[in-house]
Amino acid sequence: MTDEISNEALVQRFPGEPITHDNAAHYRGRLRRQLLVNRCDSCGAWHAPAKPICPDCWSSRVTPTSVSGNGTIFMAIFLHQGPPAEGVDYSTPYPVVTVELQEQAGLRITSTVVGASNADITIGAPVRLEWQERAGSPMPVFALRSAANA
Ligand SMILES: [Zn+2]
Repeated sequence: MTDEISNEALVQRFPGEPITHDNAAHYRGRLRRQLLVNRCDSCGAWHAPAKPICPDCWSSRVTPTSVSGNGTIFMAIFLHQGPPAEGVDYSTPYPVVTVELQEQAGLRITSTVVGASNADITIGAPVRLEWQERAGSPMPVFALRSAANA
């Protein structure tokens, strides 16, 4: 693939992120604005965060696989304080959401919701994936999905 970058360059693109052998493909996917989650080739189970073996069947045949990015809000918290970070405004306060992806019950990704008032960020609300530039690299975020465009 022509857009593959070295491990060293990948670490530089995501300063402060815990990039490892197991999750490097996930971060390379982010650079292409593609959300990759590990899926087991043996039993089909998805798992996140990335691990070298399937936690369900212990197979080492796991493949970073693109997900739809559609899901529902499983949990939401609103931060009034926190470390300074680009794109983060604690005065609103800043929403942190865990989204359960439609691919599998229990498959969850933690990020934020953009373009919505905090009052509308509720448990069970349907969301879709969006991308935002944060510190020079794409970050997966979520937007509320209305019933009309769900
Ligand atoms: Zn498995």
